[in-house]
Amino acid sequence: KLHNQLQETKGNIRVFCRCRPLSKSEVIAGCASVMDFDTAKDGDLGIAVNGSNKKSFKFDRVYTPKDDQVDVFADAAPMVVSVLDGYNVCIFAYGQTGTGKTFTMEGNETNRGVNYRTLEELFKTANERTETNTYSISVSVLEVYNEQIRDLLAIETSKKLEIKQASEGSHHIPGIVEAKVENIQQVWNVLQAGSSARAVGSNNVNEHSSRSHCMLCIMVRSKNLITGESTKSKLWLVDLAGSERLAKTDVQGERLKEAQNINRSLSALGDVISALANKSSHIPYRNSKLTHILQDSLGGDSKTLMFVQISPSDQDLSETLSSLNFATRVR
Ligand code: ADP
Ligand code: MG
Repeated sequence: KLHNQLQETKGNIRVFCRCRPLSKSEVIAGCASVMDFDTAKDGDLGIAVNGSNKKSFKFDRVYTPKDDQVDVFADAAPMVVSVLDGYNVCIFAYGQTGTGKTFTMEGNETNRGVNYRTLEELFKTANERTETNTYSISVSVLEVYNEQIRDLLAIETSKKLEIKQASEGSHHIPGIVEAKVENIQQVWNVLQAGSSARAVGSNNVNEHSSRSHCMLCIMVRSKNLITGESTKSKLWLVDLAGSERLAKTDVQGERLKEAQNINRSLSALGDVISALANKSSHIPYRNSKLTHILQDSLGGDSKTLMFVQISPSDQDLSETLSSLNFATRVR
């Protein structure tokens, strides 16, 4: 039975492409949009390369600058709810710095993102099921920087953390804080705490966060009151490090090490997802901390969603094409 279930649910990888609006400063600088959204509703994105030559890309969804946080979450909602049914889920935002990864995942006070909306949806659905199920939800927030894991909810964030495999095969990080959340009011506070902990020890917060992966893990323990069955599942929400290539002249010393670690972990992620999409027999999870941490939620019967974030500006065209090619490779 389990085998059949796995067969049926294979190919659970979706890619949504989201393009942010041109910023004020881009408009002032005379940047133009290279995007053609005519067929965005069907998941097709056209891009004018060198003014005329059009390239097109196909995704499960394409969001234009007019689409808001509600539009985006509406399509992700069924996937996040499946964590209450025992599925492991992984959602991440990939793209060049400044394309809206943090906007999509974290959002802000007035435009809350996928992270907050996911927990809101989980509480809502859990409350509709109180006659048949009980749920317990907790969250961890961590950061991976230079292949090192930092617990953003811990008081002592410099403690060294490692990934361990339990005897039944699941992966976990011993010692990590798991904050139990019982209602949505508690959630924003926990998310804010994680967010502000990223700033500690870095002199430029934005720069630091663009070079590290920020990972929110929602752990769900559920019990079906009718069948007595218990499940434990995980939903990862990941704001990846910026995918841009640094100019050769900028890359020295500490920067070089950072850039190599980012390249290595993002390519490891691409390799894992494309190996899964191609139903390859060997999935190279161990090539980076990022994929190793996510192992339980990538592959098997788990569900994966990638947001590939892009800029509409002609100035960013080469990074945009490289992000779209990455996303096409994993699809
Ligand atoms: P990243 O995390 O990829 O570096 P950010 O999320 O910080 O990018 O976004 C860069 C800027 O663009 C921010 O000021 C953000 O508010 C804005 N932005 C990004 N996406 C959108 C969007 N869809 N609509 C409006 N503003 C956006
Ligand atoms: Mg960001």
